[in-house]
Amino acid sequence: MSDQPLAVVGPDHGARAHHKFSMSKLNYLDPAVGGCRGYKGRDGTSKAAEDGTELHEKSEEVLRDYLKAARPSVSLAQFAAGRRDWDDDSNNLLHQCFTFLDDHALRKGSRVYIELKARIKRDDGTEINYGHLDLFVMHADMSAMLIDWKFGYAPVIPADRNRQGLGYAAAMFQQFPQVKSIEVIFVQPRLRWVTRFTYHRDQATEMAFRVDQIVQGAIRTQGEDMQRPLLREQLNPGSACEYCCRVGTCPGYLGAYVTAVQRMGALPSLPTTFNLDAIDSPEKAAIARAWVDFLDAAAGPIKERAQEIALNNGGQIEATLPDGQVVKYEMKSRGVNRELGSAAEIAECLKDIVMPAQLLGAAKLGLEKTLEIAAPALLEVNPEVGTKKGAREAILSMLEAHGLVTKPDGKVEFLKRTKVPQTTNTITIE
Ligand code: SF4
Repeated sequence: MSDQPLAVVGPDHGARAHHKFSMSKLNYLDPAVGGCRGYKGRDGTSKAAEDGTELHEKSEEVLRDYLKAARPSVSLAQFAAGRRDWDDDSNNLLHQCFTFLDDHALRKGSRVYIELKARIKRDDGTEINYGHLDLFVMHADMSAMLIDWKFGYAPVIPADRNRQGLGYAAAMFQQFPQVKSIEVIFVQPRLRWVTRFTYHRDQATEMAFRVDQIVQGAIRTQGEDMQRPLLREQLNPGSACEYCCRVGTCPGYLGAYVTAVQRMGALPSLPTTFNLDAIDSPEKAAIARAWVDFLDAAAGPIKERAQEIALNNGGQIEATLPDGQVVKYEMKSRGVNRELGSAAEIAECLKDIVMPAQLLGAAKLGLEKTLEIAAPALLEVNPEVGTKKGAREAILSMLEAHGLVTKPDGKVEFLKRTKVPQTTNTITIE
């Protein structure tokens, strides 16, 4: 590159502010791409999020320094290699980002904006939304690229439907009236996957309007303060629920499973085979993965609801599936025994009463065997305990005090699938 791009430095990645319904939430808030108007993200952070932030910061730092250093003969990837103070995994990911920029974005006369605040406004000047984009590159011919690094393992919605990309691009059209087109690019180095989509100037007004619609939908559903009680019919349970802090109490989320259980016919038929080869693209993989997460999250509430309904239905539930199979579940219960710590720990705990070698075998066999040996031994060592029952209770207390008896006795109730007799002309499933 003979003419260095100009870097316009923005705020640090970690220090940036967020709109209530920020650009990064738009995918989760728009039902048209599987989101939900009631979506509210979880607070706090995770190891994956922290790793992603670190990689963003590192990529920004290196790019800023490269652009300031005015070293036209060296590519960004080469410059980064000379600066490397990161581990192999980060290097693999960052190298892909730097190479992408070398190959596609850093052109003669381009202007590079890092961590730019992207704000969309209505015609009357009021704000619709804002966020901070990773990279905006404006080329000499007034075409631009909007590049977002996604360092996670989960694929993001492709650029042509990605509402975060839509929002940033809408903002950039407003902020840079001279720009004719914007290519939105999501680079996902862990997946070695890049998606790209180009918006044109004549779409700018409609794009801002669509973002406004998404934000207004969220405000109608959640209220300005995001605290309005949610109404089930306004929600769209789906993959966004996985990241929504309301999942435990959400009427839409819980209602979806009740409906699913109550209307068996509306469920997809139960598969008997599974063809992994059908998942043959990153997008299908993302959809399949989102379904697995969704079902994982749904399993608990579905089981609880089924048990509740069974309890009010004489202890059983039954249905005929579309293929004629009869599925039947009955309430069962079983006793739960106290759980013991390891035999060695028990022998150590009771060593003043019984020789460890004498107790080890019994402790392996469970609490009752342990008490059979230890209670008489305690009575011998300490006759003041009085009775065999008293000795058993004393041993139990000692074990409890040492955390070696972990569960109280009790009963658990559960639903068990039962065989349906062959005479009913149905298939029996164990
Ligand atoms: S948990 Fe409820 S509010 Fe949250 S995304 Fe799912 S349906 Fe919407």
